[in-house]
Formats: sequence, structure tokens, C-alpha cells
Amino acid sequence: MNWQMGNRLVLGGFAIATAILIFVGWQSYRSTGLLVEAVHWRDHTYEVLNSLDETVGHLSDAETGQRGYLLTGDETYLEPYRSAIKTIDPTVTRLKNLTADNPNQQKRIQALAPLIEKKLAEMQSTVDLRRNKGVAATTGIVLEGSGKHVMDQIRTLIAGMTNEENYLLRTRAQQADASATKSARAVLAGALLSTSLMVLCFALLKRELSERKKAQEALAKSEKWFSTTLSSIGDAVIATDMNGAVTFLNPVAQQLTGWNLEQARGKSMDLVFDIVNAETRRPVENPVKKVFREGKIVGLADHTVLLSKDGRQFDIEDGAAPIITETGESFGVVLVFRDITDKKSVDQEIKYQKDLMQLILESMGDGVAVADATGKFVLFNRSAEQLLGVGPTDADPQQWPDHFGLFYPDQKTPFPADEVPLTRAVRGESVDSVEIFVRHEKRPEGVPICVSGRPLRDPNGTLSGGVVVFHDMTQQKVSEEALLFAKEQAERTSKFKDQFLSTMSHELRTPLNAVLGFSDLLADPRYGALNDRQQRYVGHIHSGGEHLLKLINDILDLSKIEAGRMELTQEDVNITGAFAEVISSLYPLAAKKSHVLLQEADAEWHVRADSMRFKQVLVNLVGNAIKFSPDRGRIELAARKVGGQIRIEVRDEGPGIPPEEQNRLFEAFYRLSQPGTAVEGTGLGLAITSKLVEMHGSKLEIESESGSGSCFYFLLPPVEVPVRPRPQPVASKSRGDRTPRIMVIEDNVATGQLIHSQLASSGYETIRCDKPEQALDMAVALQPDAITLDLLMKPVHGLEVLLQLKNDPRTLKIPVIVVTIVDQPGIGGALGADEYLVKPVDKQTLLAAVERCLRSRGGPAQARPILVVEDDQSTREVVVDLLTSFGYAVSTACDGAEARASVAQSLPALIILDLVLPKMSGLELLAEWRATPRTSELSVFVLTSKDLSKEEERYIHANAESLFLKQSSWREALINQLERVVTPTAVNS
Ligand code: ADP
Repeated sequence: MNWQMGNRLVLGGFAIATAILIFVGWQSYRSTGLLVEAVHWRDHTYEVLNSLDETVGHLSDAETGQRGYLLTGDETYLEPYRSAIKTIDPTVTRLKNLTADNPNQQKRIQALAPLIEKKLAEMQSTVDLRRNKGVAATTGIVLEGSGKHVMDQIRTLIAGMTNEENYLLRTRAQQADASATKSARAVLAGALLSTSLMVLCFALLKRELSERKKAQEALAKSEKWFSTTLSSIGDAVIATDMNGAVTFLNPVAQQLTGWNLEQARGKSMDLVFDIVNAETRRPVENPVKKVFREGKIVGLADHTVLLSKDGRQFDIEDGAAPIITETGESFGVVLVFRDITDKKSVDQEIKYQKDLMQLILESMGDGVAVADATGKFVLFNRSAEQLLGVGPTDADPQQWPDHFGLFYPDQKTPFPADEVPLTRAVRGESVDSVEIFVRHEKRPEGVPICVSGRPLRDPNGTLSGGVVVFHDMTQQKVSEEALLFAKEQAERTSKFKDQFLSTMSHELRTPLNAVLGFSDLLADPRYGALNDRQQRYVGHIHSGGEHLLKLINDILDLSKIEAGRMELTQEDVNITGAFAEVISSLYPLAAKKSHVLLQEADAEWHVRADSMRFKQVLVNLVGNAIKFSPDRGRIELAARKVGGQIRIEVRDEGPGIPPEEQNRLFEAFYRLSQPGTAVEGTGLGLAITSKLVEMHGSKLEIESESGSGSCFYFLLPPVEVPVRPRPQPVASKSRGDRTPRIMVIEDNVATGQLIHSQLASSGYETIRCDKPEQALDMAVALQPDAITLDLLMKPVHGLEVLLQLKNDPRTLKIPVIVVTIVDQPGIGGALGADEYLVKPVDKQTLLAAVERCLRSRGGPAQARPILVVEDDQSTREVVVDLLTSFGYAVSTACDGAEARASVAQSLPALIILDLVLPKMSGLELLAEWRATPRTSELSVFVLTSKDLSKEEERYIHANAESLFLKQSSWREALINQLERVVTPTAVNS
């Protein structure tokens, strides 16, 4: 129930209760009036009755006195008679008055009055008689009894009156009772009713009060909430009464105005809220006043500054509103404002950014156009208009190609509307570098433009349009054409360079080979002895030629790497094997300077690398170490595991490299200026080496200090390679299945290791014997196919061992190769040595000797010649001379046709094939022979100065027995290989 209804009920209750009480009061009043009237009438009746009694009494007293006097004649007896006579009349008069309202009684009194007079007269007469006439006179009268008779009449009348009065008394008493009862009932009922109503009202009132209390509590709470809210909100709030006097300030307002609530309460709003215009600094009309004036909500004027009481200033914004109750009554104004000092500076920054952006867009050389999601242009900068010749359009995007005159780059085909970059960007696509040709009435000459576009998305990621940026491509097209021309030029130049290099490689190497070959042959005593000077000259020619060849090879390698034409064939390379080969090939060089070459690596370790280039890197580094270290140095080639990688390092004890020169070391042609040394070199070795290492995904590093040696190293990832069976030696093919077993008798561990690795890397089973005293027993037990034997050994000299071996029938036939620093081949031959090699012995020489020995134990010699296919006459001559000097029968062919005819006529023992031939290339010949069953098994060695591609190399490795490059020292290698395949038929024939 709401409080209004409760109120009404309570009021109604009170009204009813009041009415009841009034009624009850009125009823009681009436009843009481009746009662009082009844009492009055009762008293009246009693008075009447009294008066009647008195009348009777007076008459009786008078009679009594009369009678006494009559009897006695004593005057004293007349006293009561006289007083009764005196009072009887007033009494009767009173009686008459008292019963004036009662006609019956009046009638009776009218009857009574004469009777009383009669009585009184009778008595007076008797008294008078008595007095006058004595007793006797009276006796007759008394006896006559007339007096009594009157008296009886009087008595009867009075009795009637008394009865009447008694009746009236009873009636009035009953009326008074009835009225009292009625009054009592009315009072009781009224009391009960009003009590109930009062109880009801009380209950209602109580409920009303409790609801009111609750409402008041709720109101208080809500007021508190409002006040807390007002205090907590970030905006400042000031409230005023209808006079504009401050009634409330929340904390923010207090903080901004500098006024606290106590100070401000009751003060004029103008005082507390002191505002001026930000620019003019002139007072601004207080919004509260405006509200009073206009009676509606008003905002603050722009650029308003609040002057705080303590002198601070704030940029503010917001407004004021009248405070109006539900009933429309207004009782003040509320002013809400906030400090926008920060916001203003942000706004200023945003404006600045916007202006800047606008400025940029307008000053940009590129055209920029932005369309919203409906395809309506929202930005079109000046350059866009200048470039396109027309401004934006309200037309549908489908009309854009027409409006802007858009064509494909062919300048003819109209650009499809759906493909227009801005349309695509609006669709959500990213568009890059689309070429469009623009031509229309205002741009009849047309302009090629390059357009890129991006979709625009709002912060929620919803597509809100697209933007395109485009620029004039005219200049770019010119540049592109120039670039294309330059590129073609560069390609032509590069091709020319390639051609030049490959021609150079062939054309330079070919005569150089002749120089080297002939100088070699000249130096050979078998062609006749030279005098010392001639020998020196020949030596110069040879070393000059070699230097030139190295230089050419290095330049070609470097240019190949730089041109990106150097290909790597990645394979799993066994590090120990590679080390052994490197050491073996450089051993002679190291031995010349008495260097100790050491290697350290786990036999199972492999790295992923191009085997040939990996060895080339090592050869370069070890070669440098040998070259630049003073004699008797220690050079170490090692592989170590470092952080999951394999670190390959070449360490020497040479002069070291000063730190300031280290960073230039890998530059082409850079050589250190080492005083006092004139080591030959090109300055290209390290440049090539570091590039080769880089091609393997690593970096060549150096640790070195002047005077304390150098360490060149690089890291390669290790590869796990399952253990494979040892490769079969080449030689074993011609001599059955068993791998030739070579016993190495050498007490020096390092030398023994070297010979061991040289033989093992060529596939021989090698047994080391470092105790010469046990050599014979071991040879008897193991029956090797050949033995290498050192001479200067302890405790048994090598010659002694040789004797033992040659004198024991069980070992007599085992060929013995003496490998020694003792240069006395005669003794060896005398004691039965099959070969005599003077240290340092390189791998090829050793292998050739072993092969010769093994073959001497094998089948008969070959009779067929070797066919040399070579177009360059001098090279052909060098090769032929070389072969014949080693006792081989040789035939020649100058081109492919001759070679083909020669082979068709009779199969040679072997063909040595040059690749660069007139008319038909060597590779074509090779392919032809391999395809013909008759010649498919023919042994072919390729000897060329051609710069081979990887593919050619692969083909040759698959189809020829060996490949010799004229740019490297091929002669010895060729002879060594030949000895495996072909047996010489004659010496110096
Ligand atoms: P080259 O050996 O033909 O001179 P490199 O490029 O191989 O060219 O070497 C460049 C220079 O670096 C050499 O001339 C030499 O001065 C220096 N150098 C290379 N290796 C060593 C080394 N192990 N010890 C000292 N100096 C070295």
C-alpha cells in the first residue's frame, strides 16, 4: 500500500472516529439533558408533593391548634393555627405555580383553593365563636362536622394530586432511566467503535510511520548515495539555491575552484565559479545566471578558463541545468564541469597531426585516394587530381574506369571495374603495384600509373573502406628501359667475361702446360745432361710457369665463386681420410723444410662438405703454414668437437699475423709485408679459402699473434655416417678379389703413420711394423703382397731386415720398396730391393712404386698402345714424351674424327682424351664410345684444361676412369694412375 492510500485511510479512520465521538457526545449530551430534565421534573414533583404535604400539614396544624383552642380556649393553642394560616396561602400559591404545566393539577388546585378557604373560614369562625361565645357555641358546630367534611374533601383532592404527582414521578423516573440507559449504550457503543477505529488508525499510523521511516531511510541512503556519487565522479559539480548561492560542491569542484564546501556554502556562484574567456581573458557570463534567465539547460561557452581561488587556471567545459522537482518546482541550479586542460592539449596534438597529415597528403607527389565502405570518395589529394586529370566522382565504382579513363598497360583494353585497385581495396584485398594506363579527354596523351592499395579497417577490424596510392610511371618506365638495357649489357658482359675466362683457362693453360711439361722433360737427365746454368734456367722456367698456372687457377676460381658459378657437391666426408690425403700431398713440401706434419681427428668423424673443396681449403691452409713457417716447424691439422660442431683447425708455429692485419687477410691479393721474407704467392689463397668455407655455411677465423704462430679454423656440423666396409682398392680389380696387403716397416711413428694413411686411403690393407727385429716373423706370418722398408732403424738396420727377407725362401718373393732418406739406391738394388724411394716421398710416387711391385707379381705386360687424343700439338708432344719416357707404347689423334677412326681400327690399351677438340668435343666422343658395346669398357683418362661445370665433372667421373686437370700438377698423377692400368712395353722407345 502506498503512503498516500495509507494517509487517506488514516484520515478516514480519524474522521469516522471523530464523527462517532461527536455522535456519542451529542447522544450523551442529549441523554444527560433528558436525565437532568427528568431529575428536574422529579425534584419538581417532589416539590409539588412537598407542597401538597405542607398544605395538608398546615391545614392539619391549623385544625390541631383550632381544636386545642376550641377545647381549651387557650390562646397558645392558636399559635400553630396562626402560623399555618399565614403559610397556607403562599404554599397553595407555590403549588399552583408548580403545577402550572399540568392542567389536571390546576383544575384540582382550583377546586382546592375554595375548599381551603372554606376550611380556613370554618376554623376562623369556630375560633371566633369560641372566643366570643365560648366553648358551647362551638360544640354544635364541631359536632355538626362540617369542618371535617371540608377537610376530607381537601384531603381527597390533595390525595388525587399526590397520586398524579407520584404517577408523574414514576413516569419521569422511567424516562430518566431509559434516557440514562440509552446514553450509556450510546457512549459504550461509541467508545467501542471509536476505540476500534482508534486501534485501526493506530495500526495504520504505525505502519505508515514505519513505512515513512523506511522511506526516510531510503531517502537518506539515496541522498548519501547521491552525495557519494557526486563526490566520486570525475566531473566537478556545484549546486546553488534559487538565489544563486552555493549549496553544494563536490571534491573535484572544490579542488578545481580552490573553495571548500564550508567556505563556499551560501556564497555567490560568481565568486566561487570565476570564469573568463580563454582568449580575451574577459569575464564570461556565469552559466547559472543563464539558467535562471532562460530556465533551461545551457552549455559553457567555448574556450572557457576557470580561475581558481588559489590562482590556478583550468580549461573547462560543460554546462548547467535547473534543478526541478517532479512537480515541476525548481529550487536551484546544478553546474557540472570538467578540467579539459589535458584533453585540450591532446586535441591540439590531434589537430596538429591531422593538419600535418593533410599537409603531407597535399604536398605528396604520389596521388592518394580514399573511399569509404560504400565506395564514396572521402579523400582525394591534390596530386591524385593532377595525375588523373580529374577529381573524385560520386558515381558508382562501376563507372570509375570510365570517369578516370582507366586502361590496361596495352593502352587499349579498358580496365575492368571490378579489378580497379581502389574497388579491390574497399572489398578488403591488398593490391600491390598494379600498372594502369590513364587516358581521357583531359589527359589525351595518357599517363602510366602504378597503383597499390590496402583495405582500411576500424579498430575492431571491420572493413571501413580502402586507400590507394599511385604515382606516375613515365620516368620509371624510362629508367626501367635503361635498366633493362644495362642488364642486358651486363649479361652480355658477364657472358663475355665467362667466355673470356673459359677461353683464357684453356688458351693460357695449354701453352703453360707445354712450358711446364717441356721444362720438366728438359730437366730429366734421360734426355741428356744440362749444364748448371741451363738447369737453373730450366728451373726458373718451370717455377715461373707453375706460379703463372697457380695465379690463373686462383683467378679463375675466385671469379667462378664471385659469379656464383662454383657449385658444391655435398657429401659425407671422412675427416681423417681428407687429412691423410692433404698431408700426403703436402708431405714432400713439408719435408723440404723439415716440418713435422701432425694430424689429430677421430677416425669415425665425418662432416658434410664438398670433398674436393674441403681438401682444397685444407691444402691452402697447410700449404701456407708450410710456406710461412721457418724450417723445422710443427704444423698440426686437427679436428675437435666444440659445442656440437666440429672445429677444423690448422695450427703452425710460424711468424703469426699481427691483429691489425688480420681483418684484411681474406681480401684478394692481400699479402703481409713480412720483412726479410720473400715467399712466393699470389695473395689469393686465403680469399678463395675463406669464400669456400663460407660456401659451406661457415666462416674462416684466425687466432694469431705476431711471433707466436697462427691457427686458422672453421666450424662444420658433424654427420653421423654408418660404418661402411673399407673401399676396395683400384688395383684389386685386376688381381682378383683379395685386397693387396702392404706391410710398412718403419720405427718412426709419424712417418709410419703417413705411409700407412697414404696406402690406406688408396684402399690397401696396411700392416704397421714399428719393431724391425720382428719384421721377418711378421712377414712370414702375414705374407704381405709388398713391403715398404725404412733403412735407418733401431735396433736392427733396414738393410739387415732386407737381407733377412731376401734370404728367407718364405719371404723371398715379396717385393720390397725401400723408403729412406739415404740416397743410395745402388745398395738397395744390390741387396734385392725392388724399388728404392728417397724421402720425402709423395703419395703418388709411393703408390706408383707399390703398383709396379704388385704388377711384377701379377700377369704379363700389355702390348696395346695408349691413344693420346689432343689437338694442341705441343701438349700432345709433352704427353707423348712423358708416356714414352715411362716405357708406354703411344699412338695419337689430333681431333675426334681421327680418334674415332683409330679406335675403330684397333682398341687401344687406354685413351688419354682432351675435351676441347675441333669439330667434335671429347665428351661427345666419350659418350659415343660408352654407347657402343665394343668400346663401352674401354679405359679412358680425361686430361683437360677446360673449366668444367659440376655436371661435366659428374659425367666424367661416371664414364671415365680418371680425370686430370692441366691446371694442377697432372703429370705424376697420370703416370701413377697409368701404372695401375697399363704395363709399359718399352723403355725410352
Ligand atoms: P699467398 O699465400 O699466395 O701469399 P694467401 O692469401 O694464402 O696468399 O695469404 C695471404 C698472406 O697471408 C700471405 O702472403 C702471408 O703473408 C699471410 N699468411 C697466410 N698464412 C699464413 C701463416 N700460416 N702464417 C703467417 N702468415 C700467413
